[in-house]
Amino acid sequence: MECVFCRIVAGELPSDILYQDKQIMAFRDINPLAPIHVLIIPRRHIASLAELSDNETSIIGRMAAVANKLARQEGIAEKGYRLVVSSGREGGQVVPHLHMHLLGGRRLSDRLC
Ligand code: AMP
Ligand code: ZN
Repeated sequence: MECVFCRIVAGELPSDILYQDKQIMAFRDINPLAPIHVLIIPRRHIASLAELSDNETSIIGRMAAVANKLARQEGIAEKGYRLVVSSGREGGQVVPHLHMHLLGGRRLSDRLC
């Protein structure tokens, strides 16, 4: 298995897991860009947002709900946070397994990119 996030799902790589259910897992980013930096992923390998089929878009809603829950848990819900999903090379996606970044805990740049 080559996909690093599939290896985390399989328990082959260590990770700091904050949430998991039948469909979703969330763990801390290994190279945090903000005081709170969590990755929310589907357990199933989906390469990118662009590869998400129309009949499985509900997974993104579930991932956002988990992000909201973790934002409350991490104490950043009121001050604010940012969710980022990069898709494809020019979108800045490095790990080819769909993931949502939850970033917060400091004032983030007003510029999106
Ligand atoms: P992206 O650039 O959107 O593909 O984001 C990939 C993210 O995965 C980066 O922020 C990496 O720091 C993070 N990452 C890569 N490998 C691991 C790992 N083993 N555990 C936790 N986070 C990781
Ligand atoms: Zn994968």
